[in-house]
Amino acid sequence: MDQAALDNSVDQLSSTLQSVFGYRTFREGQREVIEQICAGQDCLVIMPTGGGKSLCYQLPALIMPGLTVVVSPLISLMKDQVDSLIQTGVSAAYLNSSLPREESLQVLQKMRYGELKLLYVSPERLLQASFIDRLHELNVSLFAIDEAHCISQWGHDFRPEYAALGRLRQQFPQVPIMALTATADKATRADICERLTITPHSLLTSFDRPNIRYTVAEKLNAANQLRQFVDAQNGTSGIVYCSSRRRVDEVAERLRLQGHQAEAYHAGKTQEERADVQDRFLKDQLDIVVATVAFGMGINKSNVRYVVHYDIPKSVEAYYQETGRAGRDGLDSEALMLFDPADIGRVRHLIEQSEPGPQQQVEFHKLNTMAAFAEAQTCRRQVLLHYFDEPALKACGNCDICLDPPKKYNGIQDAQKVLSCIYRIGQRFGINHLIEVLRGSKSASVIERGHDKLSTWGIGKEKSHEHWLSVIRQLIHLGLANQDITRGSSVTLNPSARAVLKGEVELLLAEPRIVIQTTKRRSNNSRAPLNYDRKLFARLKLLRRTLAEELDVPPYLVFNDATLAE
Ligand code: ADP
Ligand code: MG
Repeated sequence: MDQAALDNSVDQLSSTLQSVFGYRTFREGQREVIEQICAGQDCLVIMPTGGGKSLCYQLPALIMPGLTVVVSPLISLMKDQVDSLIQTGVSAAYLNSSLPREESLQVLQKMRYGELKLLYVSPERLLQASFIDRLHELNVSLFAIDEAHCISQWGHDFRPEYAALGRLRQQFPQVPIMALTATADKATRADICERLTITPHSLLTSFDRPNIRYTVAEKLNAANQLRQFVDAQNGTSGIVYCSSRRRVDEVAERLRLQGHQAEAYHAGKTQEERADVQDRFLKDQLDIVVATVAFGMGINKSNVRYVVHYDIPKSVEAYYQETGRAGRDGLDSEALMLFDPADIGRVRHLIEQSEPGPQQQVEFHKLNTMAAFAEAQTCRRQVLLHYFDEPALKACGNCDICLDPPKKYNGIQDAQKVLSCIYRIGQRFGINHLIEVLRGSKSASVIERGHDKLSTWGIGKEKSHEHWLSVIRQLIHLGLANQDITRGSSVTLNPSARAVLKGEVELLLAEPRIVIQTTKRRSNNSRAPLNYDRKLFARLKLLRRTLAEELDVPPYLVFNDATLAE
């Protein structure tokens, strides 16, 4: 386009924004991207989730003369976008494996006659030789590659089909390419540009999502913690992410028992089941979706009020992406992560099972960074923004650390109690048994081993299970004790424990945070109705006790305490 045409189209931008999309103003970065693309330049667009990336290619598509081809990784995502474009009167369509042959042919025909402005395709489809040939016969104005981090092994969601998109540049040297993503650290950004051979002329907007409050709570009794949190949300929309399908099913079931409208979503469900859950959630007919990472990419629901991570995500990008699904409408929202340091060991162990090589190194690196985030004792937002190379000079004042800075106490006595107890039980038992002995439990496993006769039995009975759990984790973290999950999870002593036992050093511990801070913004305290069968629960309660003893675990691990207390 020459300069005069460009000026003309720039004026056109605002009017198209209003008349077609119904928005009054551009969001941060949108205008710059659109101008750059209309001037025929490549563009790497990095905007936070919900920042309005789609508009960056949808609007130019209407202004430029030919066809805009959008590459998108998910079928559901294509359908949603095309449906809403058609609703606004834009001629758009998609092609993917879910479409019946008859309809595909219709789309191809429309495309051939230049009746389409936007066409969404999967990367496989785009790169089919026959499809490339068809495109060569047309006037293609732009290739927009959505969720472009999928192209990079450094991204958190690498897809091999995406890697082949590098061929586009050779096939269509004249057509500008736009790559869009919400999550890309430096390495991923460089990799995206290199693979697509686009000039690294990138446009960034802030990664900060000021309306999201980040909280990382120590995972103590996750079931109760989740319940307490969800109860306080008064039936607003939320997503709970878990690390496995089984966990997803369990958590969803438990939330339902507690009177919440919750459904499970994971790749083990049928296509119809998943579509149904997604649909009801979008229409506000369902409060909570409990899901694996399979849920979310492209979920365009603006009023998600909270996202909970029941287990640690695999990377900071995944965490950012997933928490970013909250509060797209700009209203106050919560991101809560329940963090058990042992989960890091578990994920690490899983990665160790994978094939050694660069990919494994990447995963280790990402996990370590995630662990560092979870363990940080400084403003969460600063840590997060720093990860994306964005300077954040001031603490945010709106995360758990800022609102309630960690308090330290003289932990020498607590530490001595724990360490001497580890010593007395012969360094051969896991955390739960250790706490039982400390708290003077008469559980079958304690009695059987004669641990009720030890001098350390009951020396910590004045403090809760959760208190000791937190203290023990800190001692492990400080290197005074060790827990090897590959060897039966026994807690052992490290040489440095000696000085603590002798009282030769000072030791500050963080005060365990047992209660999760929840927002005070929603004061209405009404709860969803609880439909319990009291008799059934009395029976379950008994069953739980028996099972707990048999399995040698605290009762809440068998079934949620609070549920049964009702
Ligand atoms: P992203 O892909 O960056 O996560 P989307 O393109 O899905 O974000 O946009 C998120 C929301 O913002 C959508 O509901 C969209 O309609 C809305 N939106 C986009 N641009 C604007 C704008 N200029 N003004 C108001 N709302 C906008
Ligand atoms: Mg998007």
